[in-house]
Amino acid sequence: MQYPQPIEKLIDSYMKLPGIGSKTATRLAFYTIDMNKDDVASFASALTAAKTQLHYCSICGNITDDDPCEICQDKSRDQSTILVVEQPKDVMSIDRTNDYHGLYHVLHGVLSPIEGKGPEDLNIESLIKRLQDHPEVKEVIVATNATPEGESTAQYLARLIKPAKIKVTRLAHGLAVGSDIEYADQMTLLKAVEGRTEL
Ligand SMILES: [Zn+2]
Repeated sequence: MQYPQPIEKLIDSYMKLPGIGSKTATRLAFYTIDMNKDDVASFASALTAAKTQLHYCSICGNITDDDPCEICQDKSRDQSTILVVEQPKDVMSIDRTNDYHGLYHVLHGVLSPIEGKGPEDLNIESLIKRLQDHPEVKEVIVATNATPEGESTAQYLARLIKPAKIKVTRLAHGLAVGSDIEYADQMTLLKAVEGRTEL
């Protein structure tokens, strides 16, 4: 026996989310049915709005509902430093430390021969163009994760950028090897930014 069609559809939708199996999806579907109408309506519109109103900043690649994003528009920030991260959520993690006041650039991944990800699949071309258009940038801090892919991406960027006489640094190894920026605590991140070393 099957559930009525709308419930089956809802369960299928929840199962599209990462880490949600049929049991959890069924529980969420029934929970949703029990929610009041207004809450369901605002939940549905939040989903749609997140997808339609958000896009990537044309300058840094961060996720934003404005273009350029808030950070790129903020002229009070240090325009001479760009910190490069893998994912938009890393921007939030580092900015929350309140220790770094420069600009950002989001790669949207790392170089990974196994996954067939090359430089052209990452937001690298726009970084190089940005550096060419903005000679005021004196340092690029590569804050990719402390994984083998993160390391080789950092080395690749250093080789690419250094000939332009721009300093390329890497976050200090206060970060545990294999660890993600996203999960590091604020004190570790703060120390990692302060103790960065030149590549
Ligand atoms: Zn931006």
